[in-house]
Amino acid sequence: MKEILDISLENEMDLVLAHRRSMQVGEQLGLTVATRTTFATAVSEISRTAIEYTDNGRLHIVITGKFPRYSLFARVVFDSDQLFRSTDEGFFYAKKLLPDFTFHASGNAYLIEMGLGLPRSLKLDEPKLTALKVYFEQASPLNAYEEIKKKNSHLHRLTGEQEEEIRIQRELDEKKTEFISVASHELKTPITVVKAYTQMLKLLKDQYSEKVAGVVDKLDMQTSKLTLLAQQLMDVSKMENGSLQYDLVEVNLNQFVEEAVMILSAVHEGNQINISLGEPCVVKADPLRLEQVLTNLLGNAAKYSAKNSTIDVATCLAEDRKSVVIKVNDQGLGMSAEGIAKIFDKFYRLDEVTSSHPGLGMGLYISSKIISDHGGKIWVESIPNQGSTFFFSIPVA
Ligand code: ADP
Repeated sequence: MKEILDISLENEMDLVLAHRRSMQVGEQLGLTVATRTTFATAVSEISRTAIEYTDNGRLHIVITGKFPRYSLFARVVFDSDQLFRSTDEGFFYAKKLLPDFTFHASGNAYLIEMGLGLPRSLKLDEPKLTALKVYFEQASPLNAYEEIKKKNSHLHRLTGEQEEEIRIQRELDEKKTEFISVASHELKTPITVVKAYTQMLKLLKDQYSEKVAGVVDKLDMQTSKLTLLAQQLMDVSKMENGSLQYDLVEVNLNQFVEEAVMILSAVHEGNQINISLGEPCVVKADPLRLEQVLTNLLGNAAKYSAKNSTIDVATCLAEDRKSVVIKVNDQGLGMSAEGIAKIFDKFYRLDEVTSSHPGLGMGLYISSKIISDHGGKIWVESIPNQGSTFFFSIPVA
C-alpha cells in the first residue's frame, strides 16, 4: 500500500481541497474525466459527512495492490459520539458511485473505505507510484488556505520532534544522574576501607624498608584522589536531586583563607603560594563547602600550571563593602573565550587538557553551585598561555 496524500478534514475549506486533490490524483494516474469525477465526488460526499459532525477527520488517498494490478482507494477516518450506520443517507451516493465501499465502526471510531480498480492500460508500476507520491509532496498549494495548513503541519511536526528530543534528553539525564548516585555510593565504602588500611600501614612505617614506606605513601595519595572523585560524584548527584545541604556558621574569612592556604601549600609543595589579605570580615558560610571551593581552585591553579610557578591568593572587600571577593591567580595554561563561557558547565573540560591532565570536569560545576547557594558569584578572567584568575564573592554577614 502506498499513501499518495492525506488531508485533515476540519472545515468546509478542506472539502474543497479533498475534491480538487482527488481530481488531481485521477488526472495524474491517467483516469478518464468521468472516472476521476466519480471518484472525487464520492470522496467529497464522505468528507462532507465527516466535516459535518467532527473536526478530527482525515482523508488518506492510497494505492493498493501489486504490479500489474492496482486499486485506488480513499479512506476517511474520524471519531464521533454520533452513531453512524452504513445505511445512513450521508453514505448513500458515495456507495452508488463507488460500489467497492466498506464501512467499519469500532466504538466511536469510524473508517470508510471506497475505491476502484485501476485498468492495466494505465501501465502503472512502483516507480510511477513513487513519482506520484513525490509529485503531491512537492505540489504547490492550491490556495492560501492550503499554504497555511501546510506550514502549520510543518510547524506541528517540528514542535513534536523537538518535544520528543527534549523528552529523550531528559530521560537520558535522569538515567545518568541515577547512575552517578548509585556508582558514587558503591565506590564510597571500599574506598573508605582502603583509606583506613593505608593509614594503618602508615602508622607502622618503622617496620618497613624505605622503599615499602614510599609505596605506602603513593597508595595513600592515590586513595585520597579516589576519595575526592567519589565525593565529587556524590555532590553532583546531590545537586541534581536538590539535596545538597549547608551548615551555615559565622566564619572569619581572612583567618579561614589563611588556614586553608597553609594546609594546601603542604599539598602543592611544588608551587609557591602567596597570600594577600584585605580588610577582615565575617561571612555566613559552611566552612567545609567553602574549603571545597578553595581546594578546587587552588588544586586547578597547580594542576594547570608549570611546576614551581607562583599562585597568588587574595581577599578584598568589594567597593560597596557588602561582599568579599576571594581571588586565585595562576600563571598557567589559561583558556580561550569559549572555554571561559563554558568552564562552569557540568563535565566541561578544555580540549587541550583532556589527554594530558586527569579530571572529570565536576569541580568548577560544584564550586559554582556552592557559591551561588551562598548568595555569591564565581567568575574567571584568563588569557591563553598566560594564566587565569578565578574570583568568587560571598556576602558579608
Ligand atoms: P577537572 O579539573 O577535574 O577537569 P574542573 O571542573 O575543576 O574539573 O575544571 C574544568 C576544566 O576547566 C578543566 O578540565 C580545565 O580544562 C579548566 N580549568 C580549570 N581551572 C583551570 C585553570 N586554573 N587554568 C586553566 N584551565 C583550567
